[in-house]
Amino acid sequence: MKILYHIAVFFSHLTYTLLRLLGRNASHAPGVVAMKICPRYLEMVPKAKICICVTGTNGKTTASNMLTDCLTAAGYKTVSNRLGSNIAPGIAAALTNSTDWFGKCKVDATVFEVDERASRLILPYVKPDFLVVTNIFRDSLKRNANPDYIFSIINDYTPATTKLILNADDLASVALRPDNPRAYYGIAPLESDITEPVNLVSDNSTCPKCDTKLVYDYLRYHHIGHVHCPKCDFASPAADHLFTVPDVNGSVIYDEHNGEKTEYPLVSSIVFNIYNESAVIACLSEAGLANEKIQEIMRNTAVPDTRLKEEKIGDISVIMAMSKGQSCISSCRTFDYVSSEPGNKVVMLVLDDYYDRKNSVEYIGWIYDVDYEFMARPGVVQVAAAGPRCWDHRVRLLMAGVEEDNILCCLDELQCAELVKTDGVDKIYILYDTSTYNLAVKVKEKLIARLKREEAK
Ligand SMILES: [Zn+2]
Repeated sequence: MKILYHIAVFFSHLTYTLLRLLGRNASHAPGVVAMKICPRYLEMVPKAKICICVTGTNGKTTASNMLTDCLTAAGYKTVSNRLGSNIAPGIAAALTNSTDWFGKCKVDATVFEVDERASRLILPYVKPDFLVVTNIFRDSLKRNANPDYIFSIINDYTPATTKLILNADDLASVALRPDNPRAYYGIAPLESDITEPVNLVSDNSTCPKCDTKLVYDYLRYHHIGHVHCPKCDFASPAADHLFTVPDVNGSVIYDEHNGEKTEYPLVSSIVFNIYNESAVIACLSEAGLANEKIQEIMRNTAVPDTRLKEEKIGDISVIMAMSKGQSCISSCRTFDYVSSEPGNKVVMLVLDDYYDRKNSVEYIGWIYDVDYEFMARPGVVQVAAAGPRCWDHRVRLLMAGVEEDNILCCLDELQCAELVKTDGVDKIYILYDTSTYNLAVKVKEKLIARLKREEAK
């Protein structure tokens, strides 16, 4: 078996080198080759001193990239699957990069973003020291079925020795593997907290012990918050790392851990990114990094915010924002954010899942989980649905109480850029999905050309 491993490492490195010579990023194929030659590759690769896996419905990319940057900045030679896939071959390819040609580990730390559904093929073999679970939400029904199904995969396949870094404010993931070593992180009450769910999707609303409706001590969005049961002793766990944010638009965040309070720079004002930062600080601290070291590296860390790209033409800002289709939580967060920004806004929806249509049937049920109701907020002066699915968006918008006169439907996305309202508008948001980014860029270019034309008049 050992000989197979060495052959696999050799050919995996060779594949990597050849693909790199061809200018490819080689983040998948070297893993495929390795696993084909040695099916136990993931298990047999010697692991770095610190091996971290990050999974969860939302935020795993941001959290794992931040962890990689932080460990690198702290002087650890770190390998991650940042450029590759988050399923088994992507992890195998990254593991190859963590070894030399003889199969010996040559790095201090590895950070792997792991797809929740694929975690069953990864976690039992990689056996990470730490598993960060950002949250478990409803996701694409087609890909991930029900959140309970995702929970059971992570729960069944996480090794007993792995220390879990869990979000105390997410009732879904805190119940993972109760016997595993664990550390909870949470965010103390914020000014913007509420106590009653506002989102259409709000899972985990009843007590898992006695089925009584839970009471929220504070609630952020969907089911994220702190609960207690009015009938029995069930409550959200106390956070081992309790983060306090005096002002979300401020510059500091405090981590209270083992009776000690440490100040860190706050890297984002958006709550779900504050959760990502909290997860990262908690994980680094649990991995043994000194608070002073974490403070120092956090000062130079930024949240890789690829979601918002803004350009201003005259008085109008054109902003592209990621709104991950089929994942209702991601879209809800974006809908909530853009509709509550100040000024008169137009929101263009370039959300068509034709990527899915190519491979199987298209599933549009997710739009009934997303709070289109946010688009009925004052200040949203027009919602422009673009593309072949525009009529579905229109039905949903009407159901959500958006005025008929405020809805524009265009089958042709580019034509939408010519027809969208611009009079008296401060901001135009173009919401795009992972599969419609390039199209959304074309829509933006066309819109900007039009705005420049109108400005020149
Ligand atoms: Zn109860």
